[in-house]
Amino acid sequence: MTNAEKILHFLNNNDFSYCDDCLSELCKIKPRQQVNQICNNKITDKLITVNKKCHNCEKIKNTRQKLHIHSELQKEKNRPAVKDVQNYNLILTNKGNIHFNYNWTNVYKTDGRAYHFPENPGLIDKKYKGPSVYKWSILGKNGNDLKIAYIGETIELIRRVRHYCNPGPKQKTNVRIKDRFMEYLRTNRIINLEILIFDEIQLNEVTINSSNLLDSNLRKMLEHLFITIFKEEKYILLNKV
Ligand SMILES: [Zn+2]
Repeated sequence: MTNAEKILHFLNNNDFSYCDDCLSELCKIKPRQQVNQICNNKITDKLITVNKKCHNCEKIKNTRQKLHIHSELQKEKNRPAVKDVQNYNLILTNKGNIHFNYNWTNVYKTDGRAYHFPENPGLIDKKYKGPSVYKWSILGKNGNDLKIAYIGETIELIRRVRHYCNPGPKQKTNVRIKDRFMEYLRTNRIINLEILIFDEIQLNEVTINSSNLLDSNLRKMLEHLFITIFKEEKYILLNKV
């Protein structure tokens, strides 16, 4: 067996990435530069070089691994045909064509009053159970908006509110936000909970409406959009931004 064959044989049987030092040792090829030369000469197109953790020594460096060309081709075959790329020239470039009508509206309890932290989340109307993009707003004692907010998104709003009220020790963000809220409460602020309501948006073939909020990518997109908007509007954001 040539040294090149030794390396290929080893990588065929050990489906991970290995650095040249480890390959030299594991395949018993000395000196180590031999391995380096063989791999850099591209002994086969089935071998690729990737900067990642070596499976053996766990150091991040240039490693060699077998290319799984077969599975990649298979994936490509199974993919639905891609439409003409021209179709994806989104109207996004045409300024002013997208009208995004939205509203932040209070979250209400079953008694019809707005929910305020840290009231029992069990009092919140069950219609808010599902996915939401939400905003905690700090209000003055007269209910005036102090433009201090935290924006978040969740698949289950009421459960999420419970986590703010009773954060687990490992829920660092919840612990941090609860601490901030408690400070505001000591100075008679009101912590108001609101959710984002918006009209359906059509982006070519993509329709975005509130029933799509089950999609975490869409929720995150809206969350980040509003973080950007509120930053622009000089809000004090409690998000780490
Ligand atoms: Zn190694």
